Amino acid sequence: MSNVQKAIIIGAGPAGLAAALQLHRNNNIATTVYELRPEPTTLGGAIGIFSNGMRLFHRLGLAEALLARGSSINHMQLHSLQSGDLGKVDISSWAQQKTGFGYLRICRKDLQEVLFDAINEQQIPVHFNKRIVSVNESPKDVTVTFSDGSTDTADILIGCDGIHSSVRRLHVDPSIVPEYSGIAGTQSIIPSAGLPDAMKTQGNVFMTSNGILAIMPCSPTGDELYWFFSRETAIPHSESGHARDGWEERRQQEVDGYKDTVLKVFGSSGGEWSDTLTKAMDRTDFVGFYPIFRLPLGGKWFTSRTVLLGDAAHAMQPHAGQGTSMALEDVFLLSRLLRDQEWSLESVFARYEEIRRPRVTEIYNLAAKNGNKRKNTSPWGLWMKEYMAWAAYGLYNKLGLESWGIGQNHLVYDIDEVTI
Ligand SMILES: Cc1cc2nc3c(=O)[nH]c(=O)nc-3n(C[C@H](O)[C@H](O)[C@H](O)COP(=O)(O)OP(=O)(O)OC[C@H]3O[C@@H](n4cnc5c(N)ncnc54)[C@H](O)[C@@H]3O)c2cc1C
Repeated sequence: MSNVQKAIIIGAGPAGLAAALQLHRNNNIATTVYELRPEPTTLGGAIGIFSNGMRLFHRLGLAEALLARGSSINHMQLHSLQSGDLGKVDISSWAQQKTGFGYLRICRKDLQEVLFDAINEQQIPVHFNKRIVSVNESPKDVTVTFSDGSTDTADILIGCDGIHSSVRRLHVDPSIVPEYSGIAGTQSIIPSAGLPDAMKTQGNVFMTSNGILAIMPCSPTGDELYWFFSRETAIPHSESGHARDGWEERRQQEVDGYKDTVLKVFGSSGGEWSDTLTKAMDRTDFVGFYPIFRLPLGGKWFTSRTVLLGDAAHAMQPHAGQGTSMALEDVFLLSRLLRDQEWSLESVFARYEEIRRPRVTEIYNLAAKNGNKRKNTSPWGLWMKEYMAWAAYGLYNKLGLESWGIGQNHLVYDIDEVTI
């Protein structure tokens, strides 16, 4: 019998906050969240949430608040620096028709604020500045100890503490460590005033021999734009010999030199976009640099009273725009399984893994495949890629294939419809 009355949640990112809300409202479980950072995180950048994730946010009662803060766009215009427009890609209209929800690009800080507002409304306790140092399970409960000497005990422990999860490292599976994907990028959010309208109403993606640059609105009026330049980047070596120092040095170089890097690739093209991109770089005040890590597939996700959700279990490359939605799918499935009081906890966790594993693997592989499109290519290779894209999207639009939903099947997946 699972009969869970209290859950400790480690990590106040999307997975942890969504888990706290859903278990509170759907299972009547008392949840307490513990977060490492000293206050609600306001990490930069803007993330994309597709139909499958938006539908779950709707069920959490948060879709309206998110839609009011983000930018809903269903199209990406693909550009070649040398040969102009390559075609318009519909990324979510078909899925929107099926689910009622399209694609939303929203600043991370806005997503977190919406989640925290709901958490506060439900009076769910969140404790900041808490570093977990040990986990002890007994046949009847689980106790966590924090670095300040405090402890808490509950029926279950849920590790939602991201790719570098301490719950995973200390307790569930220390053998699984993050690995570098070979792709890194710079990103920023800039005001759109003075830039062409096409920047504010659709995504714009530029293919180059050295990666992909995309720029798209991330606020409801399009007054804010999010850009990223994502490309193949070798693991840096530092003089100190420590990998971490190498990344720190590289981060500094990228942040100092992002304008030159982008303008070197785009400025020389002389195309119509070269001016616009120069303006976009000129109004960039602050850039973030992010090497993309992921977890190898196949690690353990649970013990007898502890389970991992979201990035703590299966961090993937962000190139399918699905990390947050995967975390929400985890949350909704766990909540459904815990409703059945007849099941033992072990059966709940085992079934959770059995159902999630194939879905996560599919999306993980899709993200890795999309990531490969950022790898370096010769001018001839780029020409081929652009030609193929132009031909494929031309045909796609001419034949009205968007009504077939090609490439969007994974966006209509409904975790609540899966047989448990
Ligand atoms: C550059 C980039 C772009 C991305 N773009 C997208 C996108 O467009 N769409 C999308 O869906 N996803 C995207 N993702 C992935 C997405 O950010 C993650 O999948 C998502 O945030 C996972 O949520 P989470 O709550 O599992 O983990 P996290 O968001 O990492 O949250 C974990 C939380 O746990 C806290 N924590 C960590 N360690 C501890 C500890 N020991 N004790 C207590 N708390 C701890 C952290 O401070 C954090 O608050 C992107 C990721 C990157 C890096």
